[in-house]
Amino acid sequence: MAETIGFIGLGIMGQPMALRLAKAGHKLAVYNRTSGKSGALEAAGARVAESPAEAARDADVVMIIVSDSAAVEGVVTGASGILETLRSGAIVIDSSTIIPTVSRRMACKAAGNGASWLDAAVTGSKHGAEKGELTFMVGGDRETFDRAQPIFQTLGKKIIYCGLHGLGLSAKLAQNVIQGTMLESFCEGFVLATKAGVPPETMMEIIQSSMARAGLTDFKAPFIFKGDFTPYFPLKLMHKDLELAAEAGYAQGVPMPVLAAAKEVYMAAKAQGKGEQDYAAIVTFLEDLAGVKVRSGPGTTEPQGQSKRQGAKG
Ligand code: NAP
Repeated sequence: MAETIGFIGLGIMGQPMALRLAKAGHKLAVYNRTSGKSGALEAAGARVAESPAEAARDADVVMIIVSDSAAVEGVVTGASGILETLRSGAIVIDSSTIIPTVSRRMACKAAGNGASWLDAAVTGSKHGAEKGELTFMVGGDRETFDRAQPIFQTLGKKIIYCGLHGLGLSAKLAQNVIQGTMLESFCEGFVLATKAGVPPETMMEIIQSSMARAGLTDFKAPFIFKGDFTPYFPLKLMHKDLELAAEAGYAQGVPMPVLAAAKEVYMAAKAQGKGEQDYAAIVTFLEDLAGVKVRSGPGTTEPQGQSKRQGAKG
């Protein structure tokens, strides 16, 4: 059944998600803080709203996917936020990765309007959003989860109910602890191997024949070898998620020493101005420290001690 949807946030993830919903026949009102990102959506029949409140005004479902906790609070409780118009009986689906405590607070605010809230964090990145192959990790009440299935099924291939409010986000933060530290250690290993003289492709062949093989690094390696850091998931957002996970660990009394070290690598890369690039760009921070580049082709893998230029970048 077609729903009336207010969609807020047309970034890397939001744009293709909204487009899928529009193409599936839902009636969309879309809002983005910066104008000029809604061309494809207007072509697909969506209406452009001037504020979150306007997007939510007639909506059965309000979908949010913005950067961080402050952005979610802003579009929900700020001036012209959705609370000004959110209808009783509506469902808010927030797919932003934010701190679970803020999400629970937003759920209480929505309940004040008689609306239900689901935290529905996603994984699958830009290509998953484009193909409708996202995985959703959902927290909130079960009945609302069941009612929201038509939306989830349009956007995702795997919809996992995690429990009460905030638990979808708790799962998402744990997932990004694993992904963020995994990619960091992959990059460290490849910088070490490259500096010794093992070509990246040879190293990758070894990894893919070993227990270290992972979907994440199978996907990211070709981009790293090309030096292509076009953002699928911006580095600044992975750093944000690792900070949130550290905050959650502190609150829950969970020590995470590897996370503590890895998030400083992301922080340092962000401080170097790499925040808008894909998070795989942390390799360039490690490369600069080691004086080598993990790239395909000749000239990238001079064995240690065999060249006067050993240690030079490139
Ligand atoms: P993005 O491309 O940077 O887009 C961020 C969106 O948030 C933009 O629409 C931006 O509006 C909006 N925004 C930021 N601050 C705002 C504010 N104060 N008020 C209103 N809107 C604001 O990020 P993304 O990759 O789509 O990620 C969005 C969320 O999904 C994040 O929480 C991220 O952690 C999560 N996520 C991302 C991925 C991924 O692979 N990219 C995967 C899973 C989860 P403007 O256009 O005006 O800047």
